[in-house]
Amino acid sequence: MECPKCGSTNIVKNGSIHNGKKKYACKDCNRQFVNNPKNKVISQETKELIDKLLIERISLAAIARVSGVSEQWLHDYLNNKLKKKSPPADLPARRNTRTSTTA
Ligand SMILES: [Zn+2]
Repeated sequence: MECPKCGSTNIVKNGSIHNGKKKYACKDCNRQFVNNPKNKVISQETKELIDKLLIERISLAAIARVSGVSEQWLHDYLNNKLKKKSPPADLPARRNTRTSTTA
């Protein structure tokens, strides 16, 4: 493992962040980082392209191939989108939803 800033291999474990990923610190430049090489930044253009492809009901695997993102990232992206969606305003706020069918 190398420091993403200075390239040093003088790395020490430095606890973990909220989602359980290991955190590291470089002893040479004191840079702190998470060892996650797949964590690349997805551009806004790519996200807009993905949004369009999603509307076309193309499979996630195909969207991932076309847009160059990982399927895992795509799943996370979708989950975040669904979470952000606010419930329709014309529905009553308190619904008697049955979450479990086991009596
Ligand atoms: Zn460093």
